[in-house]
Amino acid sequence: MTNKTHIMFGVAVNATATYFLKDYIEIDLSHVLLGAIIGSQFPDLDSECSWITQTIPLPYKLLSKTKKLHHKTHRTILLHSLYTIIVTIILMLMFKNSIIIGFGIGIITHIVTDNFIKCNSLLEKVCYYISTSIIIIFIIKEVTFLIG
Ligand SMILES: [Zn+2]
Repeated sequence: MTNKTHIMFGVAVNATATYFLKDYIEIDLSHVLLGAIIGSQFPDLDSECSWITQTIPLPYKLLSKTKKLHHKTHRTILLHSLYTIIVTIILMLMFKNSIIIGFGIGIITHIVTDNFIKCNSLLEKVCYYISTSIIIIFIIKEVTFLIG
């Protein structure tokens, strides 16, 4: 998926999760969303041509010095799906911090969508517009709450 869809999907899932979790744990929406934006880009740190590597090249340079990175290894270092998801869930349960929760859900949504949705496919476009709609609904709801 493209980087904008990763961000929108990560933020939409996080906003929805926050809506349901807010009654059970203390959670700060702005921190969750900050974590979501970073987390939804994080798994591409080992990909040479990703947006995050182009923007912040240092992590990729450090990773490529410790391991011989090739295109094939993109999914084996940071995107080793099941391992990364399990570690992320353990960290989220350990810290129960708004940024960590947003970051973790951002990573998980990135990995799941990378594995099941092809880049620039119809499904990605549908995913992008549904995510955007969810975010708009949350913004309207928050503004309505602040006004009234
Ligand atoms: Zn990716």
